[in-house]
Amino acid sequence: ANWVYKFGGGKADGGTGDKNLLGGKGANLAEMAGIGLPVPPGFTITTEMCTRFYELGETFPDDLTPEVEAGLDHIETITEKRFGAPENPLLVSVRSGARASMPGMMDTVLNLGLNDATVEGLARAAGDERFAWDSYRRFIQMYSDVVLGLDHYLFEDALEIAKEDKGYALDTELTAEDLKALVRRYQEIVAEAQGDPFPQDPQQQLWGGIRAVFASWNTERAKVYRRLNDIPHDWGTAVNVQAMVFGNMGDRSATGVAFTRDPSTGENATYGEFLINAQGEDVVAGIRTPQYLTKAGKDAAGADKPSMEEAMPEVYGELAKVFDLLESHYRDMQDIEFTVEEGTLWLLQTRTGKRTASAALKIAVDMAADGIISEEEAVCRIDPKALDQLLHPTLDPDAKRDVIATGLPASPGAAAGVIAFTADEAERRASLGEDVLLVRIETSPEDIHGMHAATGILTARGGMTSHAAVVARGMGRPCVSGAGTLQVDRDAKTMTVGGRTFKEGELLTIDGGTGEVMAGEVATVQPKLAGDFATLMGWADAHRRMKVRTNAETPAECRTAREFGAEGIGLCRTEHMFFDAGRITSVREMILAEDEKGRRAALEKLRPEQRGDFEQIFRVMAGLPVTIRLLDPPLHEFMPQDDADFAEVASASGLAVDKLKRRAAELHEFNPMLGHRGCRLGITYPEIYEMQARAIFEAALTVSAEDEAVLPEIMVPLVMSPGELATIRKLIEKAAEEVFAEMGSRIDYLVGTMIELPRAALRANDIASHAEFFSFGTNDLTQTTLGISRDDAGRFLGQYVDKGLLPRDPFVSIDEAGVGELVELAAERGRATNPDIKLGICGEHGGDPASIAFCEKTGLAYVSCSPYRVPIARLAAAQAAL
Ligand code: ADP
Ligand code: MG
Ligand code: MG
Repeated sequence: ANWVYKFGGGKADGGTGDKNLLGGKGANLAEMAGIGLPVPPGFTITTEMCTRFYELGETFPDDLTPEVEAGLDHIETITEKRFGAPENPLLVSVRSGARASMPGMMDTVLNLGLNDATVEGLARAAGDERFAWDSYRRFIQMYSDVVLGLDHYLFEDALEIAKEDKGYALDTELTAEDLKALVRRYQEIVAEAQGDPFPQDPQQQLWGGIRAVFASWNTERAKVYRRLNDIPHDWGTAVNVQAMVFGNMGDRSATGVAFTRDPSTGENATYGEFLINAQGEDVVAGIRTPQYLTKAGKDAAGADKPSMEEAMPEVYGELAKVFDLLESHYRDMQDIEFTVEEGTLWLLQTRTGKRTASAALKIAVDMAADGIISEEEAVCRIDPKALDQLLHPTLDPDAKRDVIATGLPASPGAAAGVIAFTADEAERRASLGEDVLLVRIETSPEDIHGMHAATGILTARGGMTSHAAVVARGMGRPCVSGAGTLQVDRDAKTMTVGGRTFKEGELLTIDGGTGEVMAGEVATVQPKLAGDFATLMGWADAHRRMKVRTNAETPAECRTAREFGAEGIGLCRTEHMFFDAGRITSVREMILAEDEKGRRAALEKLRPEQRGDFEQIFRVMAGLPVTIRLLDPPLHEFMPQDDADFAEVASASGLAVDKLKRRAAELHEFNPMLGHRGCRLGITYPEIYEMQARAIFEAALTVSAEDEAVLPEIMVPLVMSPGELATIRKLIEKAAEEVFAEMGSRIDYLVGTMIELPRAALRANDIASHAEFFSFGTNDLTQTTLGISRDDAGRFLGQYVDKGLLPRDPFVSIDEAGVGELVELAAERGRATNPDIKLGICGEHGGDPASIAFCEKTGLAYVSCSPYRVPIARLAAAQAAL
């Protein structure tokens, strides 16, 4: 096998196409080197090596060693430096890089190759002692953290003490002598903490670094990140070993990060930050607040320190050309890391930049308008799930705001929540159902679970490209970063600003679009779905085959769904209307009635109410199909809860409370999910479905008399045999004819069934002879096919996914191998009997992009999902069709 791919010196063994093998970082370094950009030379150890490393019990095969040696030779030849040599030593970075970008999740070590001898050689070669010792102390700190697994606070504390002793505010004030003393202190810390001195042998350092990067693939935080982002655990990371270039060589040196377009708004203007006399990590870690790249950026922010465009105009000019070149080469917005060593520009990374949903829309629409990409590509560029960010409220511009601080608008959207000062606390409170704001001095990759649990993130330090900002944008969490006036005291669990102190659990609001931080909760407004959103959705609609309907019960939900582009109702759950204050007593009266007569009396009270509901829904949905499901849930869901409930039912029905209680006890079920529910209710108590059918037809005729087109589709739940459906169909038809006769007019309607039991899927050919449509109820079908209760699965499903026993949560994305096969089979058998049968899906899966792709493949006519997911489904359906 070929484990090592080289790059640098104007050529490379690989390129962008080799992402699976070289990881994103390695593939793009090779690509940049190949097209002649200034990339420090290096080599990439493949992701296959990572897999092999784990297969071999975290050891390396023998044939790796000569390939790594050859890789080092390659770097030495180009740089004319030698690794481990006392004069003019070569230093390298050892960098992780998986197929999919996992920003900050895995490890990187810089300045590797330094020891007590090479540091002197570096100082002589650079003519700069301070720089050499600064690099050495950084190296010990990083290596100890990443490779030796020592606590990074040990080193940060020692650095703080060294600065305090001298009365310095900034790291850059430390002199060469200070740094030498600090290195000695660091070496003592290492020796104390691990018993052995800091490794002096560069080869040992190199292999330690390579091993640590491969091992970082399986850290807890990397696993969590992969789970949240659907990245398979078996992909592995590559390792990049690359010649160091130095941004910390003085005032003509710098390091920075840039986006070729604004990652928050999508505006076509370079966006970035840099630090003079610093190394790469400093910008991301938020150690100093960085300076802006462009003059326009600086002026817009009202910052005082000069931009790179002003401070280093020549190098900036070169950089600006590289931005244009990379963006047109990759045909997408790029996120670029660079370093300037004594006036010379070096590129260290490029990748497709993470962006907010609104930026993604703007960039896609702009690029299509400029002819850089096609409309179809624009449609495919947007992650449907990310649209979610746009469909939720923003701050009401007229609401009163008690602004306590302003930071950088790092990730847009408004979020209100209670303060949590640690990731664990954020997670704990969120699990109790609270909206949480995670408030930190700065975030690090260890905070990832808390950031995910939080509704918003606020940091006191760090710029627009800090960890908090990048991760928040990726997750779609609103974020304000670098709110410098905040004093966060993590131990006391307080935050002080402008003389006011806020405790853990107090409410704050942030506006990630403006950077404002406000005390209390500020009112929000619904988003406007115009502009780029409307343009892109228009393109999506033009390319999709499947219709998108909604699961909605109330007129308000129906209205929202229509605004979001729903083309009908795929599931109206009649029972949701039964809980309304005035009705629940009648429902209980019906359930607890002693006989049919009692039930009918209660049902007659409900009929006008149901009719009213349906009239409203038919009006809102005029011209579009409305699928109404007859009563489905186990009756116990409606049971009286307490004595007051029983008393109310008693007075409504005239039955004694103790009789009612006895009846309630009789109705108890051990497994209600598989009990007396669905069409079984219609079989045993036909009067219930009769009432519902009458209410539907009465409402339909009333509204169609108002000249509105009404298209009712009556759906029978939980059918397992053709006979059930035939029986209930007859009952519905009889109710229809009665109502038509009474009201003196007719209307067309459909009768169909849900396919939500394996037996129904298997008998679909017979069932289809009584049905005009099937709607796949994939929530129940998943429960009954896997034999897993959705409500109880939380305790073990996570482990199933982690252990690879299930590819993902089957209640979120359809289990294609099992449930999916039943859906395909039922579709095929149903069509065999009734070629015109209309097929759709109404489970939660109808709003999940992966499941929507499956529905397209199966040829379903529509998907149905909750109102807020309708745009997501429209886009996902288009992508599935393209
Ligand atoms: P991450 O994936 O966390 O961004 P990187 O491997 O990109 O980690 O490295 C972190 C930082 O170190 C980056 O800002 C990068 O610019 C810097 N860096 C990495 N390799 C080198 C190098 N050879 N010379 C100078 N800086 C480097
Ligand atoms: Mg990087
Ligand atoms: Mg069901």
